[in-house]
Amino acid sequence: MSLDILKAKALTCTLCNLATTRTQVVFGEGNENARLMFIGEGPGKDEDASGRPFVGRAGQLLTRIIENGLKLRREDVYIANVVKCRPTVDGLGKKDRAPEADEVASCSPFLIRQIELVQPKVIVTLGNPATRFLLKTGEGITRLRGKWHDYNGIAVMPTYHPSFLLRNGGDSGNTPYKRDVWNDMKLVIDRLGLKSI
Ligand code: SF4
Repeated sequence: MSLDILKAKALTCTLCNLATTRTQVVFGEGNENARLMFIGEGPGKDEDASGRPFVGRAGQLLTRIIENGLKLRREDVYIANVVKCRPTVDGLGKKDRAPEADEVASCSPFLIRQIELVQPKVIVTLGNPATRFLLKTGEGITRLRGKWHDYNGIAVMPTYHPSFLLRNGGDSGNTPYKRDVWNDMKLVIDRLGLKSI
């Protein structure tokens, strides 16, 4: 099955309750042969409205990490989430929340297939839900980040979610969390043989 066919299936999916409150399914996007894949937890308000992953403030920060930090174009990488529809508190569309276990269970076959089809060399998981799902662990991101892990032979680097960075010191200044993410990205640069700045 190609990514296009998989996407077509996702766009009409009603396997979990998030189908009843979403505006659009956010399947994921990027280079189908990407060496680097980013995985977040789920769409937020801007993504739900646009149908594209990581386009809000956190997404703009992720784009800066890709373009200014890794010196790649956003379209060179592949970007997806663990769940494809926006989870909000009580389904009211006001406050975002992490996906529930049953939502992850329903949706994750899409992500697993995306990974199989893209076959990246490196996956960067953004935040706890993506990291815990992929690494099958209950450990938190603070303990897991900065070290290489394995998912079916693919190197996995967990790091903080851009939303977390925005909530903790933002993009400006030299905050400890921002330094951590940069250190994690330097490991990715080395692993992929990218040209560092
Ligand atoms: S979150 Fe995933 S499983 Fe749930 S309805 Fe959306 S696409 Fe289907």
